[in-house]
Amino acid sequence: MNKSIPGIHHITAIASDPQRNVDFYTNVLGLRLVKLTVNFDDPSTYHLYFGDERGSAGTLLTFFPWPGAARGQLGTGQVGATAFTVPEGALDYWEDRMQKQEAAFLKRQWRFDEEILTFLDSDWMPLELVARPGADALAPWEGGGIPLEYAIRGFDGVTMWEKDLAPSLDLLTGTMGFSIVGEDGPRVRLQAAADGPASLVDLLQLPGGQRGRHGPGTVHHVAWRTPDDAEQQGWREDVAKLGLRVTQVIDRQYFRSIYFREPGGVLFEIATDPPGMDWDEPVEALGSRLRLPTWFEPRREEIEAALPALTLPGNPRDG
Ligand code: ZN
Repeated sequence: MNKSIPGIHHITAIASDPQRNVDFYTNVLGLRLVKLTVNFDDPSTYHLYFGDERGSAGTLLTFFPWPGAARGQLGTGQVGATAFTVPEGALDYWEDRMQKQEAAFLKRQWRFDEEILTFLDSDWMPLELVARPGADALAPWEGGGIPLEYAIRGFDGVTMWEKDLAPSLDLLTGTMGFSIVGEDGPRVRLQAAADGPASLVDLLQLPGGQRGRHGPGTVHHVAWRTPDDAEQQGWREDVAKLGLRVTQVIDRQYFRSIYFREPGGVLFEIATDPPGMDWDEPVEALGSRLRLPTWFEPRREEIEAALPALTLPGNPRDG
């Protein structure tokens, strides 16, 4: 079957305190909380989705907050940095803003002739803002309190830390349709077949690197887009043929998913674009109340009582 990955669908990471996570991604980075739900595999944990107005694929950063869990350890077999796109000329604004927030490891640098701003989030997860020509043509979330000419335009890409590049390169270029578009020392840049937004992945070779450990401040998995169930089935067969263990299709309510670990250790998901984040609540109400999958609805009262209290953006804290 002739199929290709358009780019990143979502990235899921682990946080510690849910309130601090919501405050950072909405108030500081100006993203929209587009879905408030629970971890379908553990409904005592929130699953928080941040993104653009509609929660479009390619803009969604989601978190499982694990309050009190031991901090993760960044290492090989993990995503080392998550990058967002901002318009050209936006980095002065962001550098000043993140300085005022006292963001850790705030640094301006150049990579592949692009200027980037790096810093850590509220759980010390590495983030990057990439100033990209043409990004101003992409629509930002207009309710985030950031001047629109500077606001985040979804993902740029991710950097994966790998002990050995070759097996991961084989999978991405040989099977998943990515092309090598840049090399800079230990860093190889790949681009998905459709060279649209959220289509870059950098592999960073760290031969002596320690293996990473999951926990707050680390990425849990990267989900790639697929337009429909038929293509997803095709990917499932292709991945299985490589000898990688791939799950059955799992219903995640807002998309359908398969999961497998790429050879370097990063957990990959391939998620369908449909039905999307707005199938169970209108766009204007996204993220405004706890949504549960139908199979948890009968347990709503018990589930709500067990979740930590959370003040949502736009609601007064003493309200
Ligand atoms: Zn996912």
